[in-house]
This record gives sequence, structure tokens and C-alpha cells, in this order.
Amino acid sequence: MLFNCSLFVKLAKNKQETEVMANVAFIGLGVMGYPMAGHLAKAGHQVQVYNRTQAKARAWAEEYGGKWRATAAEAAAGCDIVFICVGNDDDLRQVVLGEQGITEGVSPGTILVDHTTTSADVARELSRILKCRQVDFIDAPVSGGQAGAVNGTLTVMMGGNAETIDKVTAVISAYARCSRRMGEVGAGQLTKMVNQICIAGVVQGLAEGLHFARKAGLDGEAVVDVIRHGAAQSWQMENRYQTMWQGEFDFGFAIDWMRKDLGIALDEARRNGSTLALTALVDQFYADVQAMGGNRWDTSSLLARLEKN
Ligand code: NAP
Repeated sequence: MLFNCSLFVKLAKNKQETEVMANVAFIGLGVMGYPMAGHLAKAGHQVQVYNRTQAKARAWAEEYGGKWRATAAEAAAGCDIVFICVGNDDDLRQVVLGEQGITEGVSPGTILVDHTTTSADVARELSRILKCRQVDFIDAPVSGGQAGAVNGTLTVMMGGNAETIDKVTAVISAYARCSRRMGEVGAGQLTKMVNQICIAGVVQGLAEGLHFARKAGLDGEAVVDVIRHGAAQSWQMENRYQTMWQGEFDFGFAIDWMRKDLGIALDEARRNGSTLALTALVDQFYADVQAMGGNRWDTSSLLARLEKN
């Protein structure tokens, strides 16, 4: 059966989410979007995709059996939900408001769910513009990295109208282990800022710990194998210590994206009066790694900066 608002809510309340099928579009098939759109197709939704680099859209359609479209407007046409996962604020504005963008294709009643990590301001701006067209906007940044997208275990932090979020939650569960409404539009992005602030200090701490271990002549893998059972344990430690110790950084969450995220958080902090001394420092350390050529290296490459001499 196809998505229909009232039917969808009823089914979701009856916990029969798996029987619900929606017509959806997915815009942006990068490291995150490609597998996320794949989970939607595997869950049985009718998925049509758009990607700026068309080869990726063709490859996706071949792999998952969905349809690819030449423009975002064509992909969005006739859909119940349009998912987006592009790079930054400007990219989001372009795919939504630009020539042959989503707004040229959507109909009243469509819901836009944006998984890009952006400022809270752009989320509010787009929400205001789209409201005039009776299109609801939800900011829904994710955490969990490439592995979370591939394994369908992402965490999704959402901002927007509660009823609208109820309508999309079951569909999002195709690739999310945890999703939650954090408040009005923009609250999802503000929560993601907290996430990135927390990560920045933890990664630098782990990098310094491993750096110290090497200088002290310890076996870093043995060290982590012990301390991971104590209070120092973290997601970064569990998922990154081995590659860090081996000097492998050419994968994962790109430093360019992390600097974009920390820049957004630091801008917001200037406005709300919070003090982010450690975040600002780690942001500068990431600038050093970019200067080493590490723009696309994983964020754990803070260790490479400490060991570069
Ligand atoms: P990515 O691999 O670089 O993919 C970006 C996607 O956006 C590509 O499909 C790209 O198209 C498209 N795009 C960028 N600018 C565009 C524009 N102006 N018009 C149309 N399409 C455009 O990035 P990603 O790693 O998937 O990350 C996507 C978002 O998720 C970012 O906001 C990032 O901060 C966030 N995020 C990433 C991770 C992670 O671990 N990677 C984790 C959590 C959150 P092309 O193929 O043509 O370049």
C-alpha cells in the first residue's frame, strides 16, 4: 500500500510500520545518502533518486532497482517525502531553491526531511519559504558515520512540527536505530552541534593518549584493550583506535565536513554566549591537518598532526 497521511499515522500507532510504503525521493547520494537511500528501497518504499554527478544515480538505480532522475525537481515530483543529504548550507539552498530544484517539483502536502548538517538558520529560512507552498520542512541531521549509514543504525535528531515528524518516523527507521524530535525547526541542527562539540574534545584526547603511549614505548593496542573497559571508553576509542595506531586515515568522516560543523557551532556559540574554548582549539588543529593535505581524511587524523615530525 502507498503512503497516505492518515493511514500512515494509524499504522504507525499500531506498530505495523513495516507494512507502510511511501513514494519518496532521495537527493544527494554521497557517502551517507547512497546507503541511506538503499535502505529505503530495501524496506519496500518507491524510491527515486537525484545526484548532481549522474553516474552515481545510475549506479544506485542499478544496484537497488529504483529510478534515477535528471533533476531534483523531477525526483521530488509526486513524492510524499523528499529526503536530502548534501554538503552544506549553500548546497542545501541550491538543491531546494535553485534552478530545477526541489521546490519546482513538489506539491502541497509533501514533507522535506533534510539530513545535511547545516546551520539552524538555514533550516528556519527554508521552513518559512516552504510553508507558503504548504510543504513541511524537518531538519534531521544524523550521527553514526559511514558505518551507521551502511548498517542502518544512524541516530537522527529532528526539529519541526510534531505531527509531521510522527508521519516520517517509521520511514526513517529503515536506516535509523534512534530518532527523536528535539523541538521546533532548527532544534535538530542545534542538537547536532552539541554532538560535534562533544566529539571534538574526545578525538583530540584519544589522539594525545595514543601519541603519549607511542612516545612512552607502550603497545597502543594493548593499552586501549585495557582502558576501553574503564572510564576512558568512548565511541571514538572503540571504532578508531586501531586505524589511528596504524596511521590509516583515508576513510570516514572528512575533516572538511568537521571544520564546517565546528564553524557552525562556533558561530552559534558567539550568538548564544556559550564558551567553547576546546572546540575552537581543536578546530585550529583540524586546520593544521588540512594544511598537511588531509581535507578528506577521517577526523581521527588529529594523531597524524601530533606525529608529523
Ligand atoms: P559527500 O560524500 O561529500 O556527499 C555529498 C553529496 O552532496 C554528494 O551526493 C554531492 O553530489 C551532493 N552535493 C553537494 N553539493 C551539491 C550541490 N550544490 N548540488 C547538488 N548536489 C550537491 O558527503 P557525505 O559524507 O555523504 O555527507 C553529507 C552530509 O552529511 C554533510 O552535511 C555531512 O556533514 C553530514 N554527515 C556526514 C557523515 C559522514 O560520516 N560522512 C556523518 C554525519 C553527517 P556529487 O556526487 O555530485 O558530488
